[in-house]
Amino acid sequence: MKRLVARLMRMIGRRTCEDVVATLHDYFEGSLDPRLAAAIERHFQGCPDCRAFSRTYKEVVQLTGELGCDDIPDEVRQRVRAALREHAAATR
Ligand SMILES: [Zn+2]
Repeated sequence: MKRLVARLMRMIGRRTCEDVVATLHDYFEGSLDPRLAAAIERHFQGCPDCRAFSRTYKEVVQLTGELGCDDIPDEVRQRVRAALREHAAATR
């Protein structure tokens, strides 16, 4: 786990939008390492795209309520994945 966090820290240190959105689920779930969460918040400050995307993502999370990740319907999951890919492609 420590190693994973270190890897994510390096990725987010590069401020890659794709990596930020990849951690959003854990971020909103509150299970993200606090240092990582802080890094993501710093990224948001300099990246309106990710700020907007995170708002949308949060809405999706709220819409799906207390459902666990595994309970999210495939259709929703695919839409979120597609949105993540589009966002990542648009910000390259
Ligand atoms: Zn970004």
